[in-house]
Amino acid sequence: MRIGVLALQGDVREHLEALRACGAEAVAVRRPAELAEIDGLIIPGGESTTISKLAVAFDLMAPLRARLAEGMPAFGSCAGMVLLADRILDAPADQQSIGGIDMTVRRNAFGRQVDSFEEHVRVDGMPGPPVPAVFIRAPWVEEVGPGAEALATVVGDPSGGRDAGRVVAVRQGALLATSFHPELTGDHRMHEYFCSMVKETIR
Ligand code: GLN
Repeated sequence: MRIGVLALQGDVREHLEALRACGAEAVAVRRPAELAEIDGLIIPGGESTTISKLAVAFDLMAPLRARLAEGMPAFGSCAGMVLLADRILDAPADQQSIGGIDMTVRRNAFGRQVDSFEEHVRVDGMPGPPVPAVFIRAPWVEEVGPGAEALATVVGDPSGGRDAGRVVAVRQGALLATSFHPELTGDHRMHEYFCSMVKETIR
């Protein structure tokens, strides 16, 4: 099983390491030819505007959409979640998404860099205790469409502020997205979850 990490910008190395820790063959993907040779793809955190511009410049946007349409599993974290959203709020007018998940995502919804935080999040279908989740200028899911399923919400501001109860993980078929960065903790259960999604498609 070979899983690619879209390596245009962002925390590529951490995802490669987390995938290898799960026993997958992990490769960086920058070209359409590399995209053709993988069984699943992680779109890392970073800056979704930059990743989107580079994907257009590297002629990857159409091949990415085509592989997702064929059913290749993909997992987007943070900026990667923004890129998998069918609809994006608070994005530059010309920002393109790859799309695929029927959801509306608001960029930088939890605030700026100084508002970054950590929380333990309970993810539906994930055995064991809640997963540690790191949020860095993270998006939230403002609306989950009928095609998609919310997997997790944050406790957020315990006084019941605007972030309380926001959706931070979503799945639609072979597509998975989290607002947080599971690659920055030593807990690899989100990557294991994704690897098992990929295994199901290649059996
Ligand atoms: N705010 C960034 C964006 O919209 C995402 C931040 C991140 O990936 N840590 O692309």
